[in-house]
Order: sequence, then C-alpha cells, then structure tokens
Amino acid sequence: MKRLFTILTIAVLFASCQQQQPQAKYVFYFIGDGMGLAQVSLAEVWLADQNGDIGSVPLSFSEFPVLGTATTHSASNIITCSSAAGTALATGEKTKNGMLGMTPDTLPIQALTYKIKEAGFKVGVTSTVTIDHATPAAFYASVPSRSDYYDISLQLAETNFDFFGGGGFIQPEGKEKDKPHVIPIIEEAGYTFAYGMEEFEELKDAEKMVLLQNKDKKYLEAVPFAIDRDEEDMTHADIIRAAIEFLDNEEGFFLMSEGGRIDWSCHANDALTTILETIDMDLAVQIAVAFAEKHPNETLIVVTADHETGGLSLGWEKRYTMHFDQLEEQTASKDKLLADGKKKEVEKIEEMNRKARVGWTTSSHTGIPVPVYAMGTRSQLFGGRIDNTDIPKKILEAMGVPF
Ligand SMILES: [Zn+2]
Repeated sequence: MKRLFTILTIAVLFASCQQQQPQAKYVFYFIGDGMGLAQVSLAEVWLADQNGDIGSVPLSFSEFPVLGTATTHSASNIITCSSAAGTALATGEKTKNGMLGMTPDTLPIQALTYKIKEAGFKVGVTSTVTIDHATPAAFYASVPSRSDYYDISLQLAETNFDFFGGGGFIQPEGKEKDKPHVIPIIEEAGYTFAYGMEEFEELKDAEKMVLLQNKDKKYLEAVPFAIDRDEEDMTHADIIRAAIEFLDNEEGFFLMSEGGRIDWSCHANDALTTILETIDMDLAVQIAVAFAEKHPNETLIVVTADHETGGLSLGWEKRYTMHFDQLEEQTASKDKLLADGKKKEVEKIEEMNRKARVGWTTSSHTGIPVPVYAMGTRSQLFGGRIDNTDIPKKILEAMGVPF
C-alpha cells in the first residue's frame, strides 16, 4: 500500500512537472534509417578505439536525457520495410510493407506535417538520399507502392511545405521517362530550386525551397557516403544548417531529417561506411543541439530509427575481441566499389569485416526495437517502451497540435 502511494505521488509529481514544461515551438525529428542500437554503439566503440582506448565515446544524441525503445513491426510483417515504418513514424498508423502513407486497404492517411503546417508552423522535410525515397516521402505523400516515385514527387508540389532538401529525384520523368519533368511542375507550385550550398546562399530569401545537391554531382541520386565524399559535396550537417536558416521564424518550425544511407551501408554489410555515416548523422544532430542551446525551453529534439538493418553485432564468433585496425585500409564504400566494378576490393572489405569481428546476420532489416533519444521541452514523453506509431502522436502532443 505504502509503495503504491509512493508510485502515485511520483506519477502526480511527474505529470505536474510535465504540464509546467512549455510547448515545443521548434521540433527536430531525426530518423537514422537502419540505425539500431548496435549501429550507434559501433560508432562509439570505434571512436574510443581511434584514441587507443577500450570503451565508448558518446555521440551527442546518446547523451540525451531521455531514452526509450520503439517496436517497429508493420501491419503485415514482424520485420518492417522503410515505407511501412516511415508511415508509422509520420502518421501514427501501421500499414503493410511496401505501402506508403496509406492504410492496408489503400485509404490515404495524413502525415503529422500537414497538421503542423495547418497550425501555423513552418515545415521542412530532408534526407541524405533522394527526397522521394520511402522515409522522407512518408512525411508528405500517400501512394499504394513506395516505388511510385513519380507520383510521390508530384505530391511534393502540392504540400505547400516550406523546405525540402536531399539528393534529388529517382524518376523525375516517370518510370518510362515519358512524363513531364517534375522540376518545372514543382517550380510552378512556387518552389525555388537551389543546387548545392553556394546556390542556397544566393537563393535563401525564396518563399519555398527545394535544396538538392550540386547539379553536376549526380544530382538525381543520394548525397555521397561520408567515406566517398569530395570536399565540395553536400553533407547532412549542411542540409540541417540550410534548413534551420530557411525555417527559423517567430511562429516556430518542424523539421524531419533522415540520415538515409546508414541503411544502405548496412544492407551492404559494410562496417566502416556505417560507422562514418552514423558519425555524419551525429554531426547533423549537433547543429540542432546548438540551436536548442540558443532556444532553451522551446526546442524538442527526437532522434530515432525506422528499423535496424544488417543484424549488426559488436563481436563475431566465439572471441571477446574486436580489431578495428583491420578496417583502416578501406578508402571507399562497398557500394561505390561495386558500382565501379571492383569486385576484388569488395571481397577484401568482407574479409576485413570478419577480421575486425564485426558481425552481420542479414543483408536486410531485422525486427529488433530501435532506440528513441529525446532532449528539450516535453522530451519525457518519449521515454520507456513505446511503439513507432506513438512517436508522431507524442510530437504533436508536445507541440500542442491536435492529432
Ligand atoms: Zn533498408
């Protein structure tokens, strides 16, 4: 009885403390595609190893005061794909693998971004892969199949959201290249396109913007992996910096930003590329944290994942050691080497992963829950064991926007 009373007292104190926290005016929603706890831990352990230490150097978000876990199953599978997970994270409803922004019986579901925009906040959606890819698309589009890329990009034009940023578009003229190009259609809807950060600086006074990477840099593809990057390539941190500059206003803003290529390097079972991508995402989160420090009590940052990819583990087969020095010689991602036809070098990376004792169990996704890190006003909402569909509901609650 006494214990029950204590629990009740704590619950009441907690609830009243929650009520005193102001609503979130500036919200950052980071989604590391495929970034499970193992991906975060691997980056942290690797960083310590770089200093010659056995241990862990924390990434910014793993030091956030609130930690939860989110279950990720879809309406059809225990192991979700990115479009079903994106739909859950954007709309609060589960759908079947392969579907995007629609219920399993193909009824469109409105993403939280529309509700937030209607409530008077500015809205941004960005990714390091293409802007029509499953995760960013779940925040503005509803299509029966995630590969309806052309329809997805047409729906972007209709959103009236303020800022989009990412690599480009996968099928700007449709699957058969027989449709009108989407870029003039999106421009017609009032968007200014900026290619690369230099152009962003020139055009940032535009009313609505789509920021893509430099035009002569494979602009219809994803932003290059950190490991493959040239100096002038756009980074995740660049995208966040631009998004903040563009969206900052007195009424507040919401920014969803995907670190999309962690998933790709994990599909390839490529440890070093995964480590560097995860650190790259952390650099982007650090920009948001610096913003939060300037706007305490009114900023909320949530960092999570849509699912884990690769069945990554720290350790492989029987031994209690890892040997990161084995990864030192790698200078390009497996994906890039494959694209360049360098099969021998790809095999070498696989060998290096084994020698480093980084374990992989699949070239696909897994069904393990993902971590949810939160800081700032009303961040306590995200602690404990939740489901991925709870996250958008809690974000709206934190912002005082009805679900
Ligand atoms: Zn994936």
